[in-house]
Amino acid sequence: MNCPYCHKNVVGHSKVVMILGEGPAHSSCHEQHSLSDRSFNSIHFSNLAIEELHELKEMVLMELNARNIANSANHGIELFT
Ligand SMILES: [Zn+2]
Repeated sequence: MNCPYCHKNVVGHSKVVMILGEGPAHSSCHEQHSLSDRSFNSIHFSNLAIEELHELKEMVLMELNARNIANSANHGIELFT
C-alpha cells in the first residue's frame, strides 16, 4: 500500500487519507498535492474559465461578508443581554 504521491508505504503512518480511485495516501502528501494542483475540495481552479474564477471569487467574498455581518449581529445581541 504505497502513497500515490511519494510512493512510500502508508502502513503505520498516523495520518492517512483515502483518495477516491487511488487508495490510501499520506495526508501531508495529499495536502501538498492539492496546493500545487491549485484545487480546493474537488474544485480544480486551473480547469475553470476566467469568468467562472471571477464568479467564484465574488461568491467567496459575498460569503465572507455575510458571515462578517452575522458575526457583528451576534456581537450586537450579546451587548444588549
Ligand atoms: Zn506520501
